Amino acid sequence: MKITKKIIVGLAAVMLMSTNLLNVEAAEMADNTRKAVKVVQTAGRQQLGEFAPDFARYNDDILFGEVWSKNDVLSLHDRSIVTVSALVASGITDSSLKYHLQSAKNNGVTKEEMAEIITQLGFYGGWPKAWAAFNLAKEVYNDTPAVAKTASGNETLENIMATSLFPVGGENVNYAQYFDGTSYLNMLSMDQVIIGNVTFEPGCRNHWHIHHADKGGGQMLLVTAGRGYYQEWGKAPQELKPGDVVHIPANVKHWHGAAPNSAFQHLAIEVPGENTSNEWCEAVDSGEYNKLK
Ligand code: MN
Repeated sequence: MKITKKIIVGLAAVMLMSTNLLNVEAAEMADNTRKAVKVVQTAGRQQLGEFAPDFARYNDDILFGEVWSKNDVLSLHDRSIVTVSALVASGITDSSLKYHLQSAKNNGVTKEEMAEIITQLGFYGGWPKAWAAFNLAKEVYNDTPAVAKTASGNETLENIMATSLFPVGGENVNYAQYFDGTSYLNMLSMDQVIIGNVTFEPGCRNHWHIHHADKGGGQMLLVTAGRGYYQEWGKAPQELKPGDVVHIPANVKHWHGAAPNSAFQHLAIEVPGENTSNEWCEAVDSGEYNKLK
């Protein structure tokens, strides 16, 4: 492993990133960038599972599991705009609007777009509703929470989501079987070089895996937030913090993910190569992982 430190603010970050995608699946996605991303929602069952189990099921399985998940037809970005518009027009400016404003931000609706959306809603839906919506939108978009970084650099998942330079995307359900813990994946680039933004909750890491290639290939990680680890088979784990750049050679067994008590985010860049494929192996031994700081 070659690890170099870089300040990856702005441009460098825009140029890079990789993925935990199976190359085969990545290729499929490259052919069809409108592939649906399954949306997972559990709020219904958590809040109404006992009181109204059917409503909870309609909310989680149908509204989110089917309607929101049909984002190959209407993108998550556009669905967020429709939803925010409907809520504001209905005068619903409570915590559910704030949730959907945050969701819109995560789905790539920019601050500039949201300002235009709410301005237009003011004329068609009512001026006071726009004022109420702006107050919540300011909290979601301006609030760069003073990230309470500890000396160790630990961060919460909420802080990373609220301050992420690139959209965080939805829960990474397609690769959940290769991860311990919950991660979030947003493909930033499917053209030229495949780049994904991967966000890990504290304690989340992927399984041992190998990026195979006959020539070239491998993966690069650009660390954008939090604290995590990279480990090659037979070597000591390497702690990672924002600004670190990891060059993962092809055909080397490794894993990457969050520290046990910090969320973590990196851009994953798939290095082009010949005959590339990914092989997923066993999970990281939890006894060994839990020894990490
Ligand atoms: Mn990897």
